[in-house]
Amino acid sequence: MGLAGRVAMIAVAAAFFAALAQWVITPFLAQGEIRNQRQIAVDSGANLLADIARLHAEAGHWDEIPALVDALSVGMPDGQSAVFDAQWKLIAQDGARDSLPSPEAMDELVSTPNGILVIGERYYAARQIRVGDQTAGYAVYSFIPRPFVNTWLGVVGLNAIVLSLVLLAIAPLIYRLARLALRPVTVLERGIRGRDPKDKSKLADSSDDRLLKPLLTSIDEVHERSEAAMRRALTMAYTDPVTRLPNRLRFLSRLEAAVAAGQGAHLVVCDLDRFRQVNVTYGPRVADIALAGVAERLRAVLSQSGLSGGFMGRIGADQFGIILPGSSREAIDALMTACSRAIAEGFTIEGQAMRLAASFGAAHAPGDATSAADILKLAEVALKEAKKQTEPRTAFFDQRLLDKARAQSRLEDELRDGLDRGEFVAVFQPKVKLETGELVGAEALARWRRPDGAIVSPGVFIPIAEELGLIAKLGKQVMRDACFAAAGWNRKGIVSSVAVNVSPHQFDDPDFVSSVYKALDDSGLPPNLLELEITESAAVADGDRVARTMWPLRNRGVRLAIDDFGTGHSNFAAITRLPFDVFKIDQQFIRALSTDPHAPAIVEMILAMAEALGQETVAEGVETKEQADFLLRRACTIGQGYYYSPPLPAEEFDAFVRSYRPRPADRFAA
Ligand code: C2E
Ligand code: MG
Ligand code: MG
Repeated sequence: MGLAGRVAMIAVAAAFFAALAQWVITPFLAQGEIRNQRQIAVDSGANLLADIARLHAEAGHWDEIPALVDALSVGMPDGQSAVFDAQWKLIAQDGARDSLPSPEAMDELVSTPNGILVIGERYYAARQIRVGDQTAGYAVYSFIPRPFVNTWLGVVGLNAIVLSLVLLAIAPLIYRLARLALRPVTVLERGIRGRDPKDKSKLADSSDDRLLKPLLTSIDEVHERSEAAMRRALTMAYTDPVTRLPNRLRFLSRLEAAVAAGQGAHLVVCDLDRFRQVNVTYGPRVADIALAGVAERLRAVLSQSGLSGGFMGRIGADQFGIILPGSSREAIDALMTACSRAIAEGFTIEGQAMRLAASFGAAHAPGDATSAADILKLAEVALKEAKKQTEPRTAFFDQRLLDKARAQSRLEDELRDGLDRGEFVAVFQPKVKLETGELVGAEALARWRRPDGAIVSPGVFIPIAEELGLIAKLGKQVMRDACFAAAGWNRKGIVSSVAVNVSPHQFDDPDFVSSVYKALDDSGLPPNLLELEITESAAVADGDRVARTMWPLRNRGVRLAIDDFGTGHSNFAAITRLPFDVFKIDQQFIRALSTDPHAPAIVEMILAMAEALGQETVAEGVETKEQADFLLRRACTIGQGYYYSPPLPAEEFDAFVRSYRPRPADRFAA
């Protein structure tokens, strides 16, 4: 229903209800008047009866009174007449006798001028019939008025019907009047609806109507406010609050548009290296400031690069994307290198110096792929490749990378399955006391025994397991294998201790310490026969964490070895703070003993340092007698390497030990 229709309906309803209200109220207001009318009616009846009776009496026709009363009962059907003689003896009456009041009550009624008596619903009036000075008798008239409600309902019902009919008849007229009155509003409504959305002129300017002007002004205001709110919401939905760059959503829609344009565009994905560490070390607030700083540097490099049409966004927690339409590969390469340098310059945030590095991967549309999703995936493949390089870490996508990535993801799936199927086992390499040649222990080294019989070395699968977060599970399996094997040897009195390699990622596992206890408890291996090896680089990278995790184990008697020592660029102070018992000199120094003139000095220095700290020393990768002799001369205590034995499966290890003939090194050999 239109506006005018509604207004007309409201007017009709209002008229109807107003009239109804008036009818309801009026009778209550008119109560007094109604009572007055009834008194007049009964008074007139009694007077009339008395007058007629008097005329009859004067004419000497007193005996005709009953006939008179009868006649009156026909003439005044609602009333009841009664005539008495002077002694209140009833002469004539129409209706029941017991409806008359007592003679005393009637006597009193007659003596009251204009007196009325009401008994129940009946109204009574009585008058003397006087003939000359004599009282000839009394006339009594009474009647029951019609019930008030009946009268009222009759009137109201009728009125309501009449009113409804009238209103129905004039409704079209009211409607027309409403339409006429509302014409400016309807015109305005039509105008607003038909307005071009791009029309930014003010509605208030479109009319000078005194009534409409304030209305239009407030519509303008509401409109402006909602537009501003919409703009704010849109900005928030598409902007990253930390860097003020377009967010992933907006970036991807821009990428889609750029790819769809088919003009050729590069996508560069920039990923901050080890940014998680920044978050952990400095906290999220400082990390956010660093991200904003990185965005600023990237923006500056992009604007100075001279490349036009570049579009940048934050596409991940520590990832940025740049779309560059129509640029050459060389220009993109130069841009990535410049960005890498700009980030590597370092940041100072709230007085703290911070080093950051980033890797960059690029892909080209339509050269490499023709959809936004694919191009993003390929740029990430390139990024993964870039991560493996030295600075500047940049790479372009190349089909071979994809093949490699696919092979890698296959390998990852197989690794997951292999872990579930128990394909990872430990092999054991003996450790020998250089001086006597006796076996003192073994190092457990993980092997992946594939279903086809192929053996995969840990250099291949450990980094993948670390990346996939599977190293904790793998590490636990090797730990259990090693503890059970060593407990078995121990019972047979073969070899005493076993060393197990621990990846720094295993410290992320809150169950790590308890899983070591469990392996010891379940296997029955005494804790002092277990040695945990942590590479020097891992120990140095997060010394505090290593110390926190290792102290409880060490307090229980587990020994700790620093593995691949000499490769981790550690400083002396950092190493001495950590709870190590054993130094394992990296095999590269042992291998270099005969070829690199500096190697003996380095080995000697490490051995001197270990001796000063009172620690045991193990030389890794001992392959020749000469190496063993040299190491013994320089006070190295233990050797491990092919010279004694390669790593052996658990079942071969027993046989090896049984047939083992000690090979003591010669301190005095030339
Ligand atoms: P690592 O702990 O330094 O182990 C010594 C590596 O040198 C082993 O390689 C061993 O087979 C090899 N090796 C031993 N003697 C000789 C020798 O005379 N000459 C030469 N050229 N090599 C020798 P492998 O088994 O391939 O292990 C490589 C690395 O993988 C290990 O280095 C260790 O860091 C890691 N790794 C092995 N098993 C595990 C494991 O269960 N968990 C973790 N986290 N890392 C492991
Ligand atoms: Mg090791
Ligand atoms: Mg090593």
